[in-house]
Amino acid sequence: MKSQTHLLSGPLLVSGSENPAPRQGGVPPSVQALEISVTDASIDDGDPVPAWIQTHVQHVVHRRWMPIRRRLYTAWHRSGDDQLAKRAERLNMCCASPMVQKGVDGASKTRMMRCRDRLCPLCAIKRSERLGSQLVAAVSKMDDPRHIVLTAPAVPDFLREQIDGLRHAFRALRRSDQWSGTQRGGVYSIEVTLNKKTGLWHPHLHIITDGEYIAQNTLVDEWRRALQTSGIWSEVRDDQAVVVWIERVGNRRRLADYIGKYVAKPAELESWPEDALCEYAVAMRGARLVHAFGSLHGMKLESDDEPNEQAEPGVVLAVLPIINAARRGDALAIAVCASSRAHGHAWDQWAGVDTPPEEIERVAGYEVDEEAWWNAVRCLHHEYATGLRGWLRERTPDPVPTEPPWW
Ligand SMILES: [Zn+2]
Repeated sequence: MKSQTHLLSGPLLVSGSENPAPRQGGVPPSVQALEISVTDASIDDGDPVPAWIQTHVQHVVHRRWMPIRRRLYTAWHRSGDDQLAKRAERLNMCCASPMVQKGVDGASKTRMMRCRDRLCPLCAIKRSERLGSQLVAAVSKMDDPRHIVLTAPAVPDFLREQIDGLRHAFRALRRSDQWSGTQRGGVYSIEVTLNKKTGLWHPHLHIITDGEYIAQNTLVDEWRRALQTSGIWSEVRDDQAVVVWIERVGNRRRLADYIGKYVAKPAELESWPEDALCEYAVAMRGARLVHAFGSLHGMKLESDDEPNEQAEPGVVLAVLPIINAARRGDALAIAVCASSRAHGHAWDQWAGVDTPPEEIERVAGYEVDEEAWWNAVRCLHHEYATGLRGWLRERTPDPVPTEPPWW
């Protein structure tokens, strides 16, 4: 398992290397230096953790990430930190109970009610999609963009302090004559990897900057000087190597897309020990993923505060009771789920139930008649989600007939 697959997977997104040393396969030296071997960490089952409960919808929606979701949930609860425990519960509820809304325009839409946690794998993908398009917009305005990776020597400090230190150092670098004389502005993000052997963090900066040629050895010297002002890396010696990677950007759209993906991706969490999952979660909380600087300063980057979906006027109903009814074999619910795809929903996938032959005609009818389908949705909702009728019918045993009195 590679820790830096995002860099290894598309090494030739950029062209015209300005780095002096030849390399193999276009892999930046920072990647080789940071590459780590990974073993699976086991989870102790010793201490009590509140129950991990997932609805069937979650099992379908989050199926690719169930192990890491469960590890995050466990680690955050065991941490003893109230904030992390709350985040664990929000993560646990991500997409648990989708709602369907029918707006005043007549169109129906399923709302997923996501947790929006920085470390939630599904929410990270959604964030990266938005971020990718923002980065494309930023890079497309640049005349001559370059991709720069700046790393710092591994130190045992807290991750949050290292991140602050890197930001401080990068500000110092931008004030230097060598940088300010050649680079106009751009965007940068901080990526974090963990060296499993040493247990040390490796935060590093990815920058897309618009400007002119800057020699790599010049940048190495300036970056070392900048690091020395940061406190954390004040001990870095003048002859110490710091890893710096520069490449001119060839295909801008692909570069921006791929940066968007790794920026929003919650690192390689799967293999991290529990204390690292907690420290990373706390350190990255509220930290912005992407910053604009220089000529792009002030550019709108919405990646950090994903807006909550605005409530619109209309009818809102819970979908989960309908999914559950279909899974229990309710014929109407099965038909409603099977025909939902025709109206832009994926309830058939969530229910995962085959349509019985006698319902095929009803499904076809609902597919062409949106109003009939919606009426059936309301009917089911009324049956199973409001009041106790459905619940009672399922759980209350038939009344035992009372014997007639002896007289
Ligand atoms: Zn989520």
